[in-house]
Order: sequence, then C-alpha cells, then structure tokens
Amino acid sequence: MKKITIAIDGFSSSGKSTMAKDLAKEIGYIYIDSGAMYRAVTLYSIEHGIFDGEQMNAEELKKQMNNIHISFQVNAQTQRPDTYLNGVNVEGRIRSMEVSAKVSPIATLDFVREAMVAQQQEMGKAKGIVMDGRDIGTTVFPDAELKIFVTASPETRAQRRFDELTAKGQQVSYEEILANVKERDHIDQSRDVSPLRKADDAIELDNSHMSIAEQKEWLMQAFRRATNTSL
Ligand code: C5P
Repeated sequence: MKKITIAIDGFSSSGKSTMAKDLAKEIGYIYIDSGAMYRAVTLYSIEHGIFDGEQMNAEELKKQMNNIHISFQVNAQTQRPDTYLNGVNVEGRIRSMEVSAKVSPIATLDFVREAMVAQQQEMGKAKGIVMDGRDIGTTVFPDAELKIFVTASPETRAQRRFDELTAKGQQVSYEEILANVKERDHIDQSRDVSPLRKADDAIELDNSHMSIAEQKEWLMQAFRRATNTSL
C-alpha cells in the first residue's frame, strides 16, 4: 500500500502526541514528536548558559546551533521513540516544567525553526510518517495527504498535564500548569514565524470530551478515508 504523510497539529497538551504515537504504531509508520526537538534545543540552552534567568541570549544560541544534534531511537521497553541530544537520552529531562516554561520563546527564533524544519523534512522524505507539532500541516509538510488539527479547552489540557506529571511523581500545581498552557498558546499563536494555526485543508478534532479509545477510532477512520483502505 502506498504510504502517506500525516500531520497532526494542535495546542499544547491537547493529547496529539498520544494520538499520533498510537496511530503510527497501529499502521506501522514512523512517529516524530517535533515538540521534543524544540524542547531539546531548550534543554541545551539551559545547560549552556544561553539563559540568564528569563533573559535569553539568542545571538549566542545562533553561534552554537551547529553543536546541537537531535535524533530519536526506539526504546525497547516502551516501544516508543526517545529523544537524544548529542547522543544522550534526554527524554525525561525535556518534559520538566523548566523546559516547558522556556521552550516557546526558543521556538519563536527563526534560525531555530529553520534548522528544525529542515531536519523534519529530511525525516519525512520517504513518507510513511506521522509527525505532530504546531506547524507540520502548514510549513513542514504542506502537501501532507492527511492533516488533523486538535483542540481542547485550556482547563482540560492543564488537567491532563497535571495528571501526567503527578503520575510520574512530580510535585506540580494545577494553577502553574494552567498558566503555562495559556502562556504557550498565546506565544505559539502570535509569533511571526510559522504561528500555530489550522491549515485550510486540515480536519479539526475537539477532543475535550473524548476518551483515548474514541479518539483512536476517529483517527483510524480519518486514515482509512485518506488512504481509501479498509484497514
Ligand atoms: O508539543 P510540545 O508541547 O511538547 O511542544 C513544546 C513547544 O515547542 C510548544 O509549546 C511550541 O512552542 C514549540 N513547538 C513549535 N513547533 C512545533 C512543535 C512545538 O513551535 N512544530
């Protein structure tokens, strides 16, 4: 069967990564979490003195961009791809609140976006890929055969993130997470380069009141329609 490109965009913590990962596994496609790449650049920046408190030294980061190498490797235990920064597994560290708080300003930098988009397009050359993010259907793969735009209320998304982090044993406050979700929505939608927006030909999914199983079924139907199959 001819493989297609699937772009899943949406707001932070909308559940798009879970959907994208499950779909890729089900249909045997590669899954790439583009947000993890921006998070890895942010972790690098935190660890290499690019931040002085909230202040970011973009010029310095630009000089160091060639030292940042991001890759993915499937974790034998979870069967999901882990993110590697310069050969080191950073999957756990890139999900911290500190990285979440600093990632959106990093993702507004044009030279960071150019570098990430070029890598993402290279990864998708052979098709058979599900990529999730903010600008996949608009900028990275404007010709993707299936584009989905996921939304849910900020409160629903903050609650999901809170449940996810507390399940991992992290001490976090719901209010702090809700503020971070709203702040990132704002920065992601209002930045100059590739702002978060629904591609004209994307199908919208509001999953505020859907279970993971319902989402999965919805997505499989969308995939069958896009590929004309009865998989
Ligand atoms: O998807 P996730 O929430 O992990 O992404 C982290 C951040 O990376 C987002 O808030 C957004 O600022 C940025 N991002 C982006 N473009 C993408 C994916 C993520 O700007 N394609």
